[in-house]
Amino acid sequence: MSDFDPARIRDDFPILGQEVHGKPLVYLDNAATTQKPEQVLKVSQEYYSSLNANIHRGVHHLSQLATAAHEDARRTVATHLNAHRPEEIIFTSGTTDSINLVTNILSRSGKISSGDEIIISGLEHHSNTVPWQMLCEQVGAQLRIIPVLENGTLDLDAFENLLSSKTKVVSVNHVSNAFGTVNNVIHICSQAKAAGAITVIDGAQSIPHQVIDLQLLDCDFYAFSGHKVYAPTGVGILYGRYDLLAELPPWRGGGEMIKEVTFDHTTYNDPPYKYEAGTPNIEGGIALAAAFDYVNNIGINAINAHETRLIQYASESLSTLPGITLYGPENRVGAISFNFDGVHHFDMGTLLDQMGLALRTGHHCCQPLMARFGITGTLRASFAAYNTIEEIDLLTAGLNRALDMLR
Ligand SMILES: *Cc1c(COP(=O)(O)O)cnc(C)c1O
Repeated sequence: MSDFDPARIRDDFPILGQEVHGKPLVYLDNAATTQKPEQVLKVSQEYYSSLNANIHRGVHHLSQLATAAHEDARRTVATHLNAHRPEEIIFTSGTTDSINLVTNILSRSGKISSGDEIIISGLEHHSNTVPWQMLCEQVGAQLRIIPVLENGTLDLDAFENLLSSKTKVVSVNHVSNAFGTVNNVIHICSQAKAAGAITVIDGAQSIPHQVIDLQLLDCDFYAFSGHKVYAPTGVGILYGRYDLLAELPPWRGGGEMIKEVTFDHTTYNDPPYKYEAGTPNIEGGIALAAAFDYVNNIGINAINAHETRLIQYASESLSTLPGITLYGPENRVGAISFNFDGVHHFDMGTLLDQMGLALRTGHHCCQPLMARFGITGTLRASFAAYNTIEEIDLLTAGLNRALDMLR
């Protein structure tokens, strides 16, 4: 779409019109969560005002409507991701839930045992770190870490050396929420596969910013959260390759995930239902599909081009500021992280807030990555379709003012 206009997009987001501390809100914390457009809010509201019923079990009219809407949403998500089939799409509560589902079904499968190895990277969010540590503790496996180079990218030579016949899983993020680094997941997955490992991608920061073609990525699992791509909190997705989903055991037991229950024996449902015990976030799933419709209406490539321009402009503007360190490589996606000599990121973030500028400060749930760079955290500006060049000018001006106050 050539007529991409952030001003028109902003009109869809009611929250962006407000003032904070008497200043227009400049929302640059999209890697933590994105704002929601009217089109998505309306779908959530309409679900509860006209469709609400429990799914998959009612003969009555509303239950059938709700079930159809829920399964339509699954198909929309499958199409958006270019999955092979909708049965590969499992509704979860978010990325964290999705990754814990993977680690727990792998743990229960008996596929990973003492002496086996699981590879993650030094760029991971805690939610793609801690569940694997917990799995390793359970089964006696070892966690191996792909090192991070000085420029914030992964050391792929070291990755090759880590791979061996002991490697059972390789799990990395597609895009780093802390530094905006894009990992070459096609390469990582193909190498991991050649070594016989199961591949998992944390897609929380790639899904909002670029085309995701799971048949091209060729990973076994891909996880993300709805709330980072203009949908509500409390809904997420785990994509899993169908044959693996069919083979692996379930984790949570309850309603929906069964075919037949007696006290002696329970037979499990087929994927994806086998992994969806209990009543799901029905409204959230439908709203997530509406968010994908919203994104596709604008065009994910148009959003990507706009955000790339914002990041490039931001890195040029910010690099002129005295004493700044920018982290990560030059071709960042979604986020830019930085610090100033002699200034604590928290103090800077607090001053920026007084100017209406919403940035994230701290470790971004990536403490091992911060430790790798010898820092406690950074300031992070992260972008969405509705951000503008003018907002980056406000950020640069705000940082200059704050530097005068702090130095
Ligand atoms: C936000 C995020 C997560 C965790 O997502 P939740 O919605 O908190 O479950 C995991 N990985 C990355 C890269 C993230 O940005």
